[in-house]
Amino acid sequence: MKPVIVVHGGAGRIFKEREEGCRAGTVRAALQGYGVLKRGGSAVDAVEEAVQSMEDDPHFNAGCGSVLNEKGEVEMDAIIMDGKNLDSGAVSAVKCIANPVKLARLVMEKTKHMLLTDQGAHLFARAMGIPEIPGEKLVTERSRERWRKNLEPDFNPEDFQKDLGTVGAVAIDSEGNVACATSTGGLSNKLIGRVGDTPCIGSGGYADNHSGATSTTGHGESIMKVVLARLILYHMEQESCSFGAVQCNLL
Ligand code: ASP
Repeated sequence: MKPVIVVHGGAGRIFKEREEGCRAGTVRAALQGYGVLKRGGSAVDAVEEAVQSMEDDPHFNAGCGSVLNEKGEVEMDAIIMDGKNLDSGAVSAVKCIANPVKLARLVMEKTKHMLLTDQGAHLFARAMGIPEIPGEKLVTERSRERWRKNLEPDFNPEDFQKDLGTVGAVAIDSEGNVACATSTGGLSNKLIGRVGDTPCIGSGGYADNHSGATSTTGHGESIMKVVLARLILYHMEQESCSFGAVQCNLL
């Protein structure tokens, strides 16, 4: 089967000054993920690679570049799912980790669980040899400015909703296996401990070889209301699509 990868760099309007960087970042991620598939790597390997590339890119709201919570700190969520066996792994509210998607994959492959959060996720990361980095390394001037702006009394929440940049990828490998991965800093100025749709299986992503793979982005509380990633696949099953790789924006 011809391998395919689709990536996204988040819902909403991309302001002019970010356009070029976001475009280049998504192209780079897609090419890196596709390279993995071309070399015979699995769909899981490919989505991890693509998402990691965007986590390392400060243009996106994931990894370095994540938006800040009410306290001005980065708190990130991520998920990865293997459509071959419906295995998945996720982390939520992680702080000093460069690549939450890698940690999510380790949760999937090295634990009996599907989601680790906050302190437990950090303990697990340490046990897996994933280095902690200073939280400030994940903070960009843009995210700090966004955070400050949100504290202004005349701030328009409409603009805030539109400046998102969660990242995600879906892929099919040469053996016909599908996978998805999504990673985010969440919503700017969110409450400490707020967990969005991204690490929730069926909301932030879903992958099933029988129907396809999805990675979602947009307002997490709205996405969770309808369990959007799984809902999309349900409708694809009803339409008896042979396969689809879908990215969905819900604002
Ligand atoms: N879905 C993410 C969240 O609510 C935000 C986004 O997609 O940009 O955490």
